[in-house]
Amino acid sequence: MIIFKESTRINSHLQSLRKEGKSIGFVPTMGALHNGHLSLIKRSKSENDVTVCSVFVNPTQFNNPEDFKHYPITIENDVKILTEAGCDLLFLPTVDEVYPKDYVKKHYELGNIENILEGFYRPGHFQGVCQVVDRLLEIIQPHSLYMGQKDYQQCMVIQKLLELTGRTDLELKICPTQREEDGLAMSSRNLRLNENGRKQALNISKVLNFMKKEIQHLPIPEIKDIAVKQLEKDGFLVDYVEISNAKTLEPANSKTDHLVALVAASFDNVRLIDNMALNS
Ligand code: AMP
Repeated sequence: MIIFKESTRINSHLQSLRKEGKSIGFVPTMGALHNGHLSLIKRSKSENDVTVCSVFVNPTQFNNPEDFKHYPITIENDVKILTEAGCDLLFLPTVDEVYPKDYVKKHYELGNIENILEGFYRPGHFQGVCQVVDRLLEIIQPHSLYMGQKDYQQCMVIQKLLELTGRTDLELKICPTQREEDGLAMSSRNLRLNENGRKQALNISKVLNFMKKEIQHLPIPEIKDIAVKQLEKDGFLVDYVEISNAKTLEPANSKTDHLVALVAASFDNVRLIDNMALNS
């Protein structure tokens, strides 16, 4: 695996590969890699000649400075994992490399998707996500982009970004959420949980499974209410439990829509998110 730290270098390296007719798959990450990230690398490898991964903890998407400060960094292990997985190129830039002096901060017209759920609880988060992905796409110029369904709303925001920036040829491939054996969605933030937190974290996926089981039997408000109470009983600070239209993420008002349940809740200041399709 070749590691690049400079954007101009990786850009010109990829330009020659593109000229040779090679297809390029790109997996952007913030590191502290786990099997969820690896599933994206594997999928990209199976569909492209060249797979590029980036590891960059983007400061502009953190609305909470404490969260940024404590974000886990395990770069040596990341390099080892990526090498073993057969990733071809790793882009490991500094902040100045992604946002150079002449970088002009853009505003993206995302519509209501950036005001609800994650957008509501993390103001400015999705603008930051769009800034970094827009910059990384400018540098890497991949044919396909791989992202995880674990960050359901983020996938919708990025699809919108691709439309807004005219990248109609770039395919966004959304990959299923990878879970631990007990059902906990894999996440870099799980590293910040202590033993008790790790045990309790499992209750998020349990609550999502409960919602999936009950969707045909109980009214939506009642399901959400039971889910919130259960998580609070388990010691979580709940930001939201929502049942949304899977296409718009607006709160669902009919059970005939394709529905997705979404949860964001913190345990010991570690904020976890997860989601599950309910009826598709
Ligand atoms: P992150 O490093 O958290 O920014 O995640 C980088 C990419 O990996 C994003 O597209 C995530 O949605 C994806 N990802 C994170 N966790 C998982 C998971 N458990 N299963 C599948 N994809 C994931």
